[in-house]
Amino acid sequence: MQKKKTDEPSAQPDRLLYATAADNTVRCVTAVTTNLAQEACQRHMTWKTASVALGRALTGAALLASQMKELERLTLHFQGRGPLGSITVDADAHGRVRGFVQNPQTELPLREDGKINVGEAVGKGVLHVIRDAGVEIGFSKDPYQGSVPLVTGEIAEDLTFYLTNSEQIPSAMSLGVYMDRGSGHVSAAGGFLVQVMPDTPDHIITHLENAVLNAPPSTEMIRGGATPEIILEIALGGLEATILSSKPLHFACTCSQERAVSIISALGKTEVRDMLEKDGQAELTCHYCNSTYLLNRDDLENILNDTETS
Ligand SMILES: [Zn+2]
Repeated sequence: MQKKKTDEPSAQPDRLLYATAADNTVRCVTAVTTNLAQEACQRHMTWKTASVALGRALTGAALLASQMKELERLTLHFQGRGPLGSITVDADAHGRVRGFVQNPQTELPLREDGKINVGEAVGKGVLHVIRDAGVEIGFSKDPYQGSVPLVTGEIAEDLTFYLTNSEQIPSAMSLGVYMDRGSGHVSAAGGFLVQVMPDTPDHIITHLENAVLNAPPSTEMIRGGATPEIILEIALGGLEATILSSKPLHFACTCSQERAVSIISALGKTEVRDMLEKDGQAELTCHYCNSTYLLNRDDLENILNDTETS
């Protein structure tokens, strides 16, 4: 996809770091996601409140997917009852992230503290977390699903609640999306996740609690030029860390013209014949990336011929 020209300085590339500290008893993941959040918002033409909610959810998915294996995919589904509707995002082991919100044209007045009111836009509801293996090659082996109530709808708090209560891993998470007032674009996005294991010494836990409490908001760090390495240092309060992986992140979808054809074929002969007679074509839009696929008369006739001979 071509980048739109703006007057804004170009953002640092999106990247994720996964590290451990304190003899492997602490995990820390940090990410800068400015470009992928902006691409998602541009594709879905989101308004400000929806942009921040989607950007936070995409960043959260990238952080949670940091330890996934080949062919695994993590999906977060925030099923809120607020004006934004639901948010669905997913991420895989290769740093590919995508997602959408049900009502992209959502904008609420700012909160009393001047912050964007994501919590009210999402509302009360349920967070579903799905970890799927093998979905890319056409089979899904025992997908794991966990669900918790949404605690604030602010995304980071909801994910922290899920990790601590459902996966039983005490966690702290910070997610941030900063919208440029002039252009209305995402000019900084990212966050971090810190997790402690059952054998983390108490003094390390206290140290981390203070570090997380005193860390500036993620967007403030990224706007100041902080890389994932600097965010890692701040989130761990200077604890010595071992970086296990560093990978680029980007917005990417799995849809294609080929998939569009197979979806239409799966509808069956009668349905396809009906489309041919009524419209002479079929149009499909991918929820995740908002790409549109057009199947013309020839494509539909080919599908009918293939179906009839098979
Ligand atoms: Zn797509």
